[in-house]
Parts: sequence; C-alpha cells; structure tokens
Amino acid sequence: MTTLPNTLDLIGNTPLVRLRGPSEEAGCDIFGKCEFANPGASVKDRAALFIVRDAERQGLLKPGGTIVEGTAGNTGIGLALVANALGYKTIIVMPETQSQEKKDTLRALGAQLVLVPAAPYSNPGHFVHTSRRLAEETPNAVWANQFDNIANRKAHIETTAEEIWTQMEGRVDGFTCAAGTGGTIAGVGLGLKAKNENVTIALTDPHGAALYNYFACGELHSEGSSVAEGIGQGRITANLDGAPIDTQFRISDEEGLVWVRRLLAEEGLCLGLSSGINVAGAIALGKQLGKGARIATILCDTGFRYLSTIYNPQWMQSKNLPPMPWQLEN
Ligand code: PMP
Repeated sequence: MTTLPNTLDLIGNTPLVRLRGPSEEAGCDIFGKCEFANPGASVKDRAALFIVRDAERQGLLKPGGTIVEGTAGNTGIGLALVANALGYKTIIVMPETQSQEKKDTLRALGAQLVLVPAAPYSNPGHFVHTSRRLAEETPNAVWANQFDNIANRKAHIETTAEEIWTQMEGRVDGFTCAAGTGGTIAGVGLGLKAKNENVTIALTDPHGAALYNYFACGELHSEGSSVAEGIGQGRITANLDGAPIDTQFRISDEEGLVWVRRLLAEEGLCLGLSSGINVAGAIALGKQLGKGARIATILCDTGFRYLSTIYNPQWMQSKNLPPMPWQLEN
C-alpha cells in the first residue's frame, strides 16, 4: 500500500474478483472486473479521463472550458468528476428515461443537466445530436463524443486490458461484455489480442440491440427490448469499428437479473443490470470454452444507481420483471 499523488489517480486499477456462483455454473473460472470501484462508481470514469486528456493534448479544451456530452448517465458522472478535478464545467444531455439516481447524482456533482425525450438515433432530437449542437453553441466548449471518439477505447486498450492481463498472470482464455459505445469490448478485445491472439473475445448483447445479428450474420437488426441502462447499440460506432469479436451471445433481462440477484444474495455484490447480463454472457462463453477456462468480464456499475428501478419491486412489476424475492417478504 502507498499513497496516490492525485485524486484522478483513483480511476482504474480496480480489483478483479473470482465470482463463485458463476464459476460453479460454468464449470470454469469467471472473474469480474470491479469497475464499480472507480470514483464515479462505473467503468466510464476511464473513458471520461482519456477523452478529457486527449482534448487537452489537442488544444481543444482550454482552462475554464466546458465539456458537453450526451450520455446514458455514467459517462456524464465520470466527466463531471474529472472536470471538477481539472477546473472545467460540464453540460450533460441525457434521455429522460434514465434512472432518477443518475439525474440526482449529476446535479449533485455540479453538472448542468439537459433532459431530452428518448428518440431514435435518426431523430435530430436524440441525446447525442442534441449534445453536439449544444457544444457548437457554447463558447469555449468541447464535445466529448464518447461513441465516435476513440480516446474512449484507448482507455481500455491502455488500462483495462493491461490490468486484466496482469491480474490474471497472462492466463486469459476469454473475455466478454456488452456494448454501449463499444469502447470497453473493442478496447479490452484489442488489448488482450495484442497480448495473445488466441484469447476469445465474445460480445454479449442485450435484447433490443443490433450487434448480435451484425456479428452473427452481418446485418444490423434488432429484436425485443431491454431495461438495462448504458448498453444496447444499433450501429457500428467508431469505437466498435475493427473490434476483434470472435463469437456473440444474446442475453435477456431475465437471464441477467438472475445473476444480479444471485451475486447480491450469495456473494454480497450490488450491481446494475448490465453487469448481470455480462456475467450471464461470461457463463455462456465458459460453457463454450470448457472446463479449466479462465474468463474475465466487466462489473460495470453499482446497483445503488438503480434503487428506483431494478431494486424497486413496484417498478419491476410494472415492467413484468421479477422483483428481488427478499423485497417481497419485508
Ligand atoms: N454498463 C453501463 C451501466 C454503462 O453505463 C455503460 C456505458 N454506456 C456500459 C455498460 C457499456 O460500456 P461501453 O460504453 O464502453 O460500451
């Protein structure tokens, strides 16, 4: 143990933990990268820091400047913290459908929050397009553009993949996670393949996203829907372009929720739904790679961000999803 010189050094270097239940289920070793342990409690702190540092290096972000971004919430939280540490302001555009906790958190951190109705990407009112316009209209502002700014995936090539490789002592058979921007899957995939091209990289896609079909048969086509926040992509973002995907799984909210529930009840980890979907994907990959395989996935964010959604029995019932059983007892 030693001291860190700067609060921004708290980003990354997260623990990697063996998940007992998922490992037993898969018949191999499943490890979860504890991204909820970042200062903003999600995997997106890494991308936020790299995007801001990249904008500074390019001279786009000047002292006292403003960072504008469209986000499902976690990138905004990461950007707001990084901005506070470096003396910048943030304007965050978010679809109003995201959890109340994320909205409250962003306001509490000092970000200016702009809520827009959920809309398809083709609609000019979509949160990404709205954030780009706001960045253009705001003096001394930069657009973080996490979906198509590859400083995002660079964060995962240079930090997340390196850490997983070191923590697993170079014995990595597979990696999987879901994609929002695709920065994590592409960055960790590229980083691990550079270490050993035989590492299997699998995309875990929620229902309602188009990437499963894209990687399975070359068609961007989606079926169904998901209540998971932060994942589910309908296009090949710049971050996803060239991602080394070997295989893909499609995981339902119900399958993901089994692992959210079990990891909390049996292993004491309170996570968001994208983490549960990732773990279900890791188990599917483990079953495919067979006994003795060593697989890593991402525990993307804390469940405390979803007390009003997946941990709220009334909300779950309204979505026709099973509430946490212990919440029905008290
Ligand atoms: N899970 C959650 C909760 C997220 O907020 C995000 C980021 N959108 C992801 C997973 C996916 O990460 P990425 O953007 O790197 O694909």
